[in-house]
Amino acid sequence: MMREVKLSRVSRVYGTSPTVIALDGIELTIGQGEFVAIQGESGGGKSTLLNILGLLDTPTGGDYFLGGQAVSDVSAGQLPLTRSDSFAYVFQAFHILEQRPAVESVELSMLYRGISTQVRRDRALDALTQVGIDHLAYTVGRNLSGGQRQRVAVARALASRAPVLLADEPTGNLDSRNTQAVMECLERVHRTGATVVLVTHSQELAARADRRIQVADGKIVADSGQSSPVAPPPPAPDGEAGRVRLRHALADVWANVTSRIGRTSGLVAAVAVAIALAVATSGLAFSAQAQVSDTFNAAESTDVFMQWDELTGDTGTAESIVQRLAALNGVTAAGVVSHHDARTVSASPVRPPLMAPVLTYEGQLEAARLGVEWPAAPRKTLGDGEALVGRNLADQLQLPTLPTTPVIEVDGAPLSVVGIIDTSPRAPEWLGGVVTTTTSEIRFADRTISVTALVTTATGAANQVSREAPLAIDPFAPDRLVVKQPTDPNSLRATIEGSVQASLIVLTVVAMLGSIASVTLATLAAVAERRGEIGLRRALGARRRDIWSMLTLEATAIGVSGGMIGVLLGLGAILAVTIARHWTPIFDARLGLAAIFAGALIGIVGALAGAMRAVRIAPSEALRPGN
Ligand code: ADP
Ligand code: MG
Repeated sequence: MMREVKLSRVSRVYGTSPTVIALDGIELTIGQGEFVAIQGESGGGKSTLLNILGLLDTPTGGDYFLGGQAVSDVSAGQLPLTRSDSFAYVFQAFHILEQRPAVESVELSMLYRGISTQVRRDRALDALTQVGIDHLAYTVGRNLSGGQRQRVAVARALASRAPVLLADEPTGNLDSRNTQAVMECLERVHRTGATVVLVTHSQELAARADRRIQVADGKIVADSGQSSPVAPPPPAPDGEAGRVRLRHALADVWANVTSRIGRTSGLVAAVAVAIALAVATSGLAFSAQAQVSDTFNAAESTDVFMQWDELTGDTGTAESIVQRLAALNGVTAAGVVSHHDARTVSASPVRPPLMAPVLTYEGQLEAARLGVEWPAAPRKTLGDGEALVGRNLADQLQLPTLPTTPVIEVDGAPLSVVGIIDTSPRAPEWLGGVVTTTTSEIRFADRTISVTALVTTATGAANQVSREAPLAIDPFAPDRLVVKQPTDPNSLRATIEGSVQASLIVLTVVAMLGSIASVTLATLAAVAERRGEIGLRRALGARRRDIWSMLTLEATAIGVSGGMIGVLLGLGAILAVTIARHWTPIFDARLGLAAIFAGALIGIVGALAGAMRAVRIAPSEALRPGN
């Protein structure tokens, strides 16, 4: 492939005031296959010249023709592709992938041309063999010496098959033995038909080139003249510039992430902590909510209590009310109790009678949820002439202790006491009175004070029953009944859920923001540290979007890993707490997916600032010695 480079009146001015004229009206043509040495004092403009030749920098004046085409016609987006088609670089500051095996540094330029993994690997190993360090192919970059690194860089140039190799003081940091070795490698590249432009301070090395150019104060002050190529031009580089395959990009990202295991685990941990916190709080909130609701359902939501004035309305007999209540859906037991004014009660003819409230009860005793001491078998209902006496009244009457069945007289009518009421949570006043049946031989007419219905329901049915029961008792005036119903567990649950969700959202948002902040800081630091690497990738043909997607994919990988670890940690926390508290753990699988997604989001958002900074890195700046 022919890549003649031709500069016409090219100048490069840095800064505004004061301005530095680094290049001043350069006229230079280098034919394909030449070996050119550029010499000159430090600060004379050699690097600037090489950067302009290599499309790493743009002239501020004049024209550059590459293979006959005006470079000013090439769009900024196209420049990396033209670089990849034409140039290979060897820098004084080495620039290889510090964390990755040498062979992967050699493969890098081929990555951005979509060349298959196998071809890349074969050709990279072959190039390493040609420069004599194939035994170091799998040694990590940071463990290589300067001479070895520079040979990796030359191997990368060889493997890329670029027609032009630009080397800026490649031996500036090397001892004489390594200098000789690298020079021999450059000569080997030259023999493939490639153009080699070598900036060097060494007179001896310059003498080995076919053409020598002297640069001073931004001008070419001496030129030994164009030379003839030693070999036919090399074939065009294979692959296609800018055609990065997704799976190659993913493999590259994976290698980046796994080769910086310390940094990666720090970031994964930052994401994992946030996700674990979110998962644990939400999971525990749901478990706790379920626990609270269960408690309500189990106790308070099974009791319904209604009271009304016996003297008004048309309710029918107590017995028929009980039947109607018991027929309602969800009712497990029902009873109707009539409250009357106080009566004389005596337990023995030798003691004066007491005044005590007397209640008549119709229906199942179970509905009153009494705790009764039964002398014989427990009763489900009271029979004719039978009574229960409250513990307090029994003590006042000095009733003989059960299991005898004492007889008391109420207004002179005898009642046999079949049990003593020890506890009466639904009607505590029963502890001081007598409970008997409506069929007892006591005259209650016109002396009833009020009537109460006690209903127990199946779990969760209390609300429905409390809506239907007044109609069942008095269909014509249900409103006159005072209904005591438990708090609606649904609205209670909604209240709890509402407040829990609000604090949950706040916690999760705070945790997410915190971890986005730490990922942002870490990515910014990483981009600063990887300036050289990013500059190198750009020089080798990576477009801005390739750098952008590399950093974003790295962040996504970290975010997803953090998300998955976070879900596991969060689940562990939920299990630990629920087991310790004997709760039923509740975990929605969708929450797990959402958490992993949130992890990815944290990674991507956290990488934004770093990625924005990275795509603005100018390769010519990033690749200078000292960066
Ligand atoms: P050489 O490689 O021959 O030592 P350079 O091309 O690096 O010289 O630099 C040529 C001149 O341009 C020097 O005076 C240098 O200070 C100046 N220069 C190079 N790069 C920049 C820059 N980015 N900003 C301002 N001045 C620069
Ligand atoms: Mg220089």
